[in-house]
Amino acid sequence: MQKGTIGVSTENIFPIIKKYLYSDHEIFLRELVSNAVDATQKLLTLSGVGEFKGDPGELKVRVSVDQKKKTLTISDSGIGMTAEEIDKYINQVAFSGANEFLEKYKKDANAIIGHFGLGFYSSFMVSSKVEINTLSYKEGAKAVKWSCDGSTEYTIEDGDRKERGTDVILYIDDENKKFLEEGEIRQLLRKYCRFLPIPVVFGKVKEWKDGKEVETDKDNVINETNPLWTRKPAEIKEEDYMEFYRDLYPMSEDPLFNIHLNVDYPFKLTGILYFPRIKSNIELQKNKIQLYCNQVYVTDSVEGIVPEFLTLLHGVIDSPDIPLNVSRSYLQSDSNVKKISGHITKKVADRLEEIFKNDRKSLEDKWNDLRIFIEYGMLTDEKFYDRAAKFALLRNTDDKYFTFDEYKELIKTNQTDKHNNLVYLYSTSREDQYSFIEAAKNKGYDVLMMDGHLDVHFVNFLEQKFKDCRFVRVDSDVVDKLIQKEEHQELKLTDKQREELTTLFSSQIPQLSKSHFVVSFEALTENDSPVIITQNEFMRRMKDMSSMGGGGMMFYGDMPDSYNLVVNGNHPLVKRIVEGVEGELGEKLKSVYSRISSLESRKAELEAAKKDKKEEEIPQAEKEELEDVSKKIKEQKDKKDELLKEYASGNKLISQLIDLALLSNNMLKGEALSRFVKRSIDLI
Ligand code: ADP
Repeated sequence: MQKGTIGVSTENIFPIIKKYLYSDHEIFLRELVSNAVDATQKLLTLSGVGEFKGDPGELKVRVSVDQKKKTLTISDSGIGMTAEEIDKYINQVAFSGANEFLEKYKKDANAIIGHFGLGFYSSFMVSSKVEINTLSYKEGAKAVKWSCDGSTEYTIEDGDRKERGTDVILYIDDENKKFLEEGEIRQLLRKYCRFLPIPVVFGKVKEWKDGKEVETDKDNVINETNPLWTRKPAEIKEEDYMEFYRDLYPMSEDPLFNIHLNVDYPFKLTGILYFPRIKSNIELQKNKIQLYCNQVYVTDSVEGIVPEFLTLLHGVIDSPDIPLNVSRSYLQSDSNVKKISGHITKKVADRLEEIFKNDRKSLEDKWNDLRIFIEYGMLTDEKFYDRAAKFALLRNTDDKYFTFDEYKELIKTNQTDKHNNLVYLYSTSREDQYSFIEAAKNKGYDVLMMDGHLDVHFVNFLEQKFKDCRFVRVDSDVVDKLIQKEEHQELKLTDKQREELTTLFSSQIPQLSKSHFVVSFEALTENDSPVIITQNEFMRRMKDMSSMGGGGMMFYGDMPDSYNLVVNGNHPLVKRIVEGVEGELGEKLKSVYSRISSLESRKAELEAAKKDKKEEEIPQAEKEELEDVSKKIKEQKDKKDELLKEYASGNKLISQLIDLALLSNNMLKGEALSRFVKRSIDLI
């Protein structure tokens, strides 16, 4: 027996490993099983080129637990190691600058293990002792047994292994007892080893017999050695893709599309990505893209490798060229990784374009589920936008689909305003904005449905992308003003009548919380509604953005919703109100108006007199009179308002018109609604 010291430049690496790598202990199993798989594949390669002439035999990796001895063993029939090789590959570990590196990456076991090529040594994270029993494939090789208890001392002696290959035996320490539980190991093997290219055996296949679970003598192989993504796309049927998806994400609905990635140059990358049907946020958080390196599971956090908008996709990516055992920040700055990300974007765009060209109908059918990915991609990735602008679809309120170019063509003649801007009308809710949509359609306009999760942003975005255009929500103004053209109706109301109507209507608007109304007038036709409620496009967008958490938008979030109550000055019912006021209040108002007018002319005289005088030259009596006159004017005006308000409150027509307008905006609720119903019955 020979003793030696492991070639470590730092005192003792093992306590350090144990101390720092507290988080990802479980990855030791991945490291050891993939070493065993590597050794097996090397044997196959040697056999292939004739360097190994014997019988490779049954090449399986076996994982087993011995509860009594408290050991976990990983066995392979790979190339094994000679004593010299153990010395070279296991004993001599170069740890330069180990301490600083460990300090920096103490939370990232992958980075540490990758940095030092420490795969094998990760076994000390969970073991008090590790043994290697190995016999090299080389002719005349002697079996070797290596043992180490986690200090820098190891022993190496003649071994007793008769068959070619390696056993790595872990004496699991007390803190890590869970790695002796069958269930735990099974779960870890499923997580990390599920698609390894060499069969991995854990226990025997179990069967139900006479109501009991019994072990058969068949090996329980836990992995699929030829997963779908390693096979040629031409040989795979659509159903195979679906089945693979169901296998990966058992609880999910079938996906919309899949993309088989198969890249050889300038880097190697294979994989299958799926566009999922997203029913809830939970699905997004749980079902993530899995990243593999030569079929070894590495991680499911692919940020940085896959462009952000595609992290919403599901599936697998496998690349030996992604530097996996490094820290995340390194990954994100790696130029190779950036290329990979760009390439995946391109592939995804290619596939969508292909579907658009060959099967537009199916793209349209799935658009509602797909659009979130595509809109997100267009919003965040300039290159993707350029590609997607060719196949992205816009849906109108009749559920017809158009490409950007097709839609522009459709609305060009009818929806260009007098400033030569193309006006895109859109709706966010068919129900709430029904009457506005109808009014626009009656005028020959087309209305887009923009009711997706991202559409608040997407509308802003498209407005910037498409030149000389505006996006206007159908309910942001009366139909005649949505798209401003030259011709205009004349408003048949005098200033005085407008003023009176403003008081009449504003006094009857029901109090709605966090809403503020401004009465205005439009000259519409007699066929348009008498009263319409609109919401300013700019203010509404600001509020929408702020409710979606747009930075610096909080100010708008706190403002009340601001609406316009637009009175159609040319509507017969409005005329009827004007005439009613005239008939009922005519005499009283006349006397108030004449009082106001004489007071105002006196006020004008007084103001003219004091105009060129300094303050001290104005006689006290004049000052007092001016004050008095102003007060009296105000009193008269208040009196006028009182008369009008009193009239309005006894006039069912005014309230009814307001309520009808609120109702068609889905804003009439609670008490106001029941008052409306009652009044309607009275009116019948
Ligand atoms: P890495 O696998 O990154 O090279 P490891 O520390 O895991 O680092 O392993 C070091 C070396 O030990 C391997 O490159 C291989 O030569 C040898 N080795 C480890 N496990 C086995 C095994 N089961 N059979 C044969 N050789 C092995």
